[in-house]
Amino acid sequence: MSEVRVRIAPSPSGNLHIGTARTALFNYLFAKKNNGKFILRIEDTDALRTQQAYVDNIFDSLKALGLNWDEGPDIGGPYGPYTQSKRFDIYPKYIQTLLDKGFAYECFCTPEELEAEKEEAAKNKKAYVYTRKCVNLTEEEKEKLRAEGRKPAIRFNVQKAQAAFHDSSILSFEDLVKGHLHMDTNLIGDFVIMKSNGAPTYNYAVVIDDALMHITHVIRGEDHISNTYKQILIYEALGFEVPKFGHLGMILAPDRSKLSKRHGATAVSDFVKEGYLTEALVNFVALLGWSPSDGQEIKSIDEIAKDFRIEDLSSSNSIFEYDKLKWMNSHYIKMLPIEDLKERLKPYLTMYPLDELTDAQYTKMVEITREPLTLLSDITDAVPYFFGKDVKIEPDAQAKTLDTEVSQSVLKDFVSKAQDWEWTEENLEEKLAQFRADWKANEGIKPKVTMWAIRAAVTGRTCGADMVGILEILGKDTSLYRAKKAIK
Ligand code: GLU
Repeated sequence: MSEVRVRIAPSPSGNLHIGTARTALFNYLFAKKNNGKFILRIEDTDALRTQQAYVDNIFDSLKALGLNWDEGPDIGGPYGPYTQSKRFDIYPKYIQTLLDKGFAYECFCTPEELEAEKEEAAKNKKAYVYTRKCVNLTEEEKEKLRAEGRKPAIRFNVQKAQAAFHDSSILSFEDLVKGHLHMDTNLIGDFVIMKSNGAPTYNYAVVIDDALMHITHVIRGEDHISNTYKQILIYEALGFEVPKFGHLGMILAPDRSKLSKRHGATAVSDFVKEGYLTEALVNFVALLGWSPSDGQEIKSIDEIAKDFRIEDLSSSNSIFEYDKLKWMNSHYIKMLPIEDLKERLKPYLTMYPLDELTDAQYTKMVEITREPLTLLSDITDAVPYFFGKDVKIEPDAQAKTLDTEVSQSVLKDFVSKAQDWEWTEENLEEKLAQFRADWKANEGIKPKVTMWAIRAAVTGRTCGADMVGILEILGKDTSLYRAKKAIK
């Protein structure tokens, strides 16, 4: 069997979409599983919508997800270039072959004429297919049209190609995911393969590139099935080997509509900005269409690669459950080694003077605040009280806690006693336990009420991280300064 070669071929008209990331992942996994090659090709034939920033975003996002390619625009490979706009000298040659064989023809129709055709079809309530007005133009007629200044587009002759390679008008193929698929090619109009300005269209360029890059399996979204029929005909007309196709179900939002920005992030880079770990994203999107054989959903990309079989991909649509992704993300945050987590949290702590903390203090801070984090970005709101001398007291902490008589008495006692405490974790643990016990024994105050007073004064909040850890990180001076300040 020849080497498996698969590709992801994004169009840089936006940041890398999470759906494209899933397609890339399944291609990557299929390549890994079969010791094959995973190729990145940039499909930038639509110059108007292409932006370099999007190309960069595609590169960065795929890399961040760990979907490293074996051949691509940046690293080259034996069948480059891997950017369509750099391949414009390749496309005309095969257009000529198709023209010579009669599988393509020049079409001189103007946009206005085509528009009129479409309106006519709409008026008669018919699905529009090109009328094939130009299929049998004589050389003289073409010359005349050229003399009028018209530049032809090139159309593919669907019926001729179908008749040359098939017994009927039905074109069928075995889809790796969806099984047997077929279509009546009479319903496919002769489509444009090269525009009058010389730019190749998607369906044409994709075939030339996939064929010349020796792509063996094309795995992509089911929205491309209608294109696949057109592409198979081009492969056949040019005598290229037709690759195997696998079409994935779509990703839908929880309300079953198309996933869009109104549901939440859709670009990989936006998920990352929001505080999702790329490992969680990979694990989550793998489960949109694939299920592990052992039912164990939490899996690293390498574990998924071992277990992955294209036959196991589901042909139905998947629902993008943001809540499940969040749950998965919090799980991944819990599993991260502390040093790794410390690094990954830094982008979300840029508003704080992190250098006020020693490395040991920063480690401690992360240790005692990591538990409730769902997103890495949750750290931002979890830690303001670790910085600076003063603390902002939240209204709730003031009214419900600090303003009470009990809290005021507790704080006065705390300040006078803690003055003499040795400020180490072990000792603070012991002293605070004693302090709580004394207030319970002497005044009948519940331990948690005693602690609320200290917490509200020192952190400005009614709940948060482990109190001993907080006091230790803040140090005696700042802790007692804040406690004193809360006393009226
Ligand atoms: N550039 C196309 C897209 O982004 C590629 C489709 C394909 O995989 O053939 O949809």
